Amino acid sequence: ARPTVAIIGRPNVGKSTLVNRLCDAGRGGAIAVDEVGVTRDRVYQRAEWCGRVFDVVDTGGLLFDDEESDQFLAEIREQASLALRESCAVVVVVDGRTGIVRTDEDIAAFLRKWPSQIETVLAVNKCESPEREPEMVADFWPLGLGEPLPCSAIHGYGVAEVLDAVLPAV
Ligand code: GDP
Ligand code: MG
Repeated sequence: ARPTVAIIGRPNVGKSTLVNRLCDAGRGGAIAVDEVGVTRDRVYQRAEWCGRVFDVVDTGGLLFDDEESDQFLAEIREQASLALRESCAVVVVVDGRTGIVRTDEDIAAFLRKWPSQIETVLAVNKCESPEREPEMVADFWPLGLGEPLPCSAIHGYGVAEVLDAVLPAV
């Protein structure tokens, strides 16, 4: 089977937009402008980078708006578990504009406890301010998920670096 990379994170951080970018990057294609934000929300998409072919699985479709509810957390864990079980790497997406929120910490704690070896990449999305980027990125070190990588899925910025970070696992 092809290696699979899971994309996880709370709602609206830009997971689906990033998935589309990751999968379009190797084809040399930018996403058509009117497609940006109108996320395709396909669960699996094929990506290709530096000659490696792998699947990217988007964990979209979370059902609960109340991020603090136990039901929401149970759902995010369930979806993440299903995706992680078949993945060799995971990209955790966070929102650089909001900084760390409680759900990010919950996801990070969940991942740190994950029983098998899985390459973890931390993507700090919505980084569109070069002046603020250093502090936006630094904010996420305490998650304990390694080096936070700045990106802007909507503009395609930093996407190559996220793919490079995933490469050793695929
Ligand atoms: P998901 O719920 O995590 O899958 O997030 P989506 O990919 O559906 O994006 C949620 C919202 O954030 C949409 O309005 C996107 O257009 C927007 N968005 C996604 N990526 C970026 C980004 O890099 N910068 C900005 N400013 N907005 C983004
Ligand atoms: Mg989505």
